[in-house]
Amino acid sequence: MSLVKVNELLQHATEHHYGVAAMNTINYETIKCAIAAAENEHVPIIIQFYPGFDRYIPLNFISYMAKDLARKASVPVAVHLDHSASYEIAMSGIRDGFPSVMVDGSALPFEENVALTAQVVRAAAVFDVDVEAELGHVGVGMNLEDISNSDLFTNVDQAVEFVERTGCGSLAIAVGNAHGDYVREPNLDFDRIRELRRAVSVPLVLHGCSGIPDEQMQEAVNLGMSKFNIATEYFAAAYGAYDNVIQATGHNRNGVAMYLGAQKEMVEFVTSKIRLLNPNKFTL
Ligand SMILES: [Zn+2]
Repeated sequence: MSLVKVNELLQHATEHHYGVAAMNTINYETIKCAIAAAENEHVPIIIQFYPGFDRYIPLNFISYMAKDLARKASVPVAVHLDHSASYEIAMSGIRDGFPSVMVDGSALPFEENVALTAQVVRAAAVFDVDVEAELGHVGVGMNLEDISNSDLFTNVDQAVEFVERTGCGSLAIAVGNAHGDYVREPNLDFDRIRELRRAVSVPLVLHGCSGIPDEQMQEAVNLGMSKFNIATEYFAAAYGAYDNVIQATGHNRNGVAMYLGAQKEMVEFVTSKIRLLNPNKFTL
């Protein structure tokens, strides 16, 4: 169906009460399998890339591949650059063809986060690029403080002010979620999600979805969150899929067969996340 804008896709998801899987990808297979799962399920999907992985693959390669596959897909696919920690990283994503970028100033004091985000939004608008921002501290799941100290979570009044002053297109919030593996089962702050959804005009984004229990993910969808970032679990699923093929074929050293053979399992993983995020069974 085509390459679509992230904001357009998230507005649609918010209106139709489903969550969009935002799959972190690193190469051809991870992009291809994520799109294939969305096509099978007849729902939109977001393909995204963490800029720190440019040591593995340059931004322009991944954006080209993702956009090319998106244009040929039978469902709407959006392409997005994840966590840009500076103006320069966000701009390099735009330069290298990403139609949407995240600027992450969440580690900065509020005023500095506002200034950085507004600067990126202003420049991105020239190129018609969507911008996701973050307010509150989405830390690492292995740090108990990051998932339990509500002082680090997104403040509702600040979020309203932040969105108004920056003009960001979507907002990543901290509500007990964090990146990577979790030191213990996370316990999302649903009251805060409810208040943020009521108060903030733009679509809301949940980072660190790997390891959040299914029922909490679905509750977040029901409360109106729209973008769900999945990285750690997808990378693990891909790794496991390769390992399974290698074991099953007795280390026969057929690399092409390994890549092809792993795809079914990778598609199944993404399919399971898409279904989880679509409790009302929306289809296009
Ligand atoms: Zn994140």
